[in-house]
Amino acid sequence: MKVNFVNNAWCNSPLKYDNSNNTPKYNVRYLSLPKDTVSFQKSSEIPSKVTTYLKQRKEELGKFYGDLTSYDLEKLDGIQNGIEIFDGLSFSQIAYLASKLDTVVIQRGCDNGCIYCYCDAKTPFYMKTNHYTDKIDFEDYKNLIDGFKELNRRLDFNIFGQNENVSLFLFNDADCSTIYLEDKDGKTYDYADLAKMLYDVTGKKILFDTAGWNLNDKDKKTQKRMEDLIQKVVNSDKYDFLQFNISLNPFHSIYNRSVELQKEGISEGNEEKIKKAQKLREIYTDRMANVIFTFSPLIGRKNSVCHDHMLEFIVRALVKTPVDGYTRNDILKIGSEIVDKVENLYDQDSMSEHPKVIKNKIQKKYYMFRIRFGLADIDSNPILLTNKKLLNKLDKETVTKTLYTKSELFNFAEEGKDFMTGLIDINGKFYMTNYAETYPTNITLNYKNNKSKATAKIEPNLRDTLITIK
Ligand code: SF4
Repeated sequence: MKVNFVNNAWCNSPLKYDNSNNTPKYNVRYLSLPKDTVSFQKSSEIPSKVTTYLKQRKEELGKFYGDLTSYDLEKLDGIQNGIEIFDGLSFSQIAYLASKLDTVVIQRGCDNGCIYCYCDAKTPFYMKTNHYTDKIDFEDYKNLIDGFKELNRRLDFNIFGQNENVSLFLFNDADCSTIYLEDKDGKTYDYADLAKMLYDVTGKKILFDTAGWNLNDKDKKTQKRMEDLIQKVVNSDKYDFLQFNISLNPFHSIYNRSVELQKEGISEGNEEKIKKAQKLREIYTDRMANVIFTFSPLIGRKNSVCHDHMLEFIVRALVKTPVDGYTRNDILKIGSEIVDKVENLYDQDSMSEHPKVIKNKIQKKYYMFRIRFGLADIDSNPILLTNKKLLNKLDKETVTKTLYTKSELFNFAEEGKDFMTGLIDINGKFYMTNYAETYPTNITLNYKNNKSKATAKIEPNLRDTLITIK
């Protein structure tokens, strides 16, 4: 889940849409592109009136020529000619997509089954059995990146602007630990490789969120992929635009099932259920301790884009709606069990012949401090309560009397409309969402490979109303 979505959406200065002439307005600061980030393709199909207009405006604007608000977008129409991924789109549509973009979806589906999942992630198994496609084709992803590179080269500035507070995602309803792609020759691109491609063309921080992975044989490949990825990131400053978030919350299916079994066991006097509940709790705390241990080499590092820590913890609970098992105290208790397990892993590691993570006592002390600090910082947000499954679990009286009324939730979604951000699905379709509602648009990128295939419905609350951008 996009655990940072509110910050991201709220910081992404809402770019106004001027209804009088259907021209998007932008907050784009000047950014000159490093020459080695652009690819050179023939641009002979650009109408000469467009190049003349661009040249004239650049001369008039001087150093400030990189601000798209200073241009008449209609007069730039045609600058995209010949760039395959934009076939059939006007320049205004492309500029609108770039100004609103926060997600390029690489993969659909998630096994975590969190009961608060706002995007109602289906398991990848579900998608396969229903003949859906669940991954972008690498060729389409590369064409998208190359298309924007070429457009930036023709403009001679970054169409995505330079707002440091904007972060981008490569996921919507998937856990990032599962995301990777292969090209036609079988070469694998992990999350850092794919993120670097997007960073190079946008200059934005790219987020990586995970709720961990299981420790069974099936998930050993994920463990290895994550260890390799973290080594790659810490041993090179090429990837310091990334931010990793570890998500700890009581809504994960494993922890949630343990709460349910515990409650049933106690009310039925059923020892078996209570034992099973404890076992599931151990499985959950083991996997969370493992993900923290695996990502520990990132602790204390800063990313270069906006200097946030590269590793953050997103901890959620029902702070204002106390439902047993899901409260602040419950999450603090489970956090404390996880901290003990991480410390154990550190001690085992430091005593091993070739320690992977802990090299000395000061390092361990600092890591433990950062983890305790991160896991005690608990967040609660009204968006948690817009999920139907979670609402059904809660005492609705409590919710409506003491927390948010239905109209408050409705207002939240309404207000959010001003903060809608854009998402490109794996088949090239572009949607707008405020994380409470989602709308289709008339923009579809020219992806070659998944055009005719269905994808799982983009959630939350996909509406029928089409947003039309001219
Ligand atoms: S099921 Fe959980 S981890 Fe997966 S996308 Fe939803 S909230 Fe994120």
